[in-house]
Amino acid sequence: MNIDNNCVVTLHYNLSDEHDKLIYTSEKDEALSYLHGWGELIDGLEKALTGKTAGDKFEVTINPEDGYGEEDPDLVQVMPMETFNGVEIHEGMELQGEDPEGDFRLLRIIKITGDDVTINMNHALAGKILKFSVHIESVRAATETEIAHGHAHIDGDSHH
Ligand code: ZN
Repeated sequence: MNIDNNCVVTLHYNLSDEHDKLIYTSEKDEALSYLHGWGELIDGLEKALTGKTAGDKFEVTINPEDGYGEEDPDLVQVMPMETFNGVEIHEGMELQGEDPEGDFRLLRIIKITGDDVTINMNHALAGKILKFSVHIESVRAATETEIAHGHAHIDGDSHH
């Protein structure tokens, strides 16, 4: 069957940046299963998958507007060291935190100068051109329960 809304799609993928540097490969992990048409994947990837079928392999380049969006400069902030309550931090570290609206987010510490800590709360892939190489393993119709939950269930995982 061809991928359309309310299909459960299982796939493997490699993600690279615009310079073909590999960012992530699913090959060592389990294949990704998701419910198509519910925004579980970034827009550009769902668009590229629509109409494809099991066994298809393809590559797609996705601009930030169809990916994780542009970097928001307001989400790069300098905070005093004391905000971290004595937690040992270093440049490049990722922490869970809250953004100005109080939503939970991952924040990255990008620079420490004396008592000034520069943090970036943008998604790590915001502003980036992303290249996906995708291999579709299977496509099936979602069950009523999956559609009611808005996500795929993997092998008998019927709980959440
Ligand atoms: Zn569920």
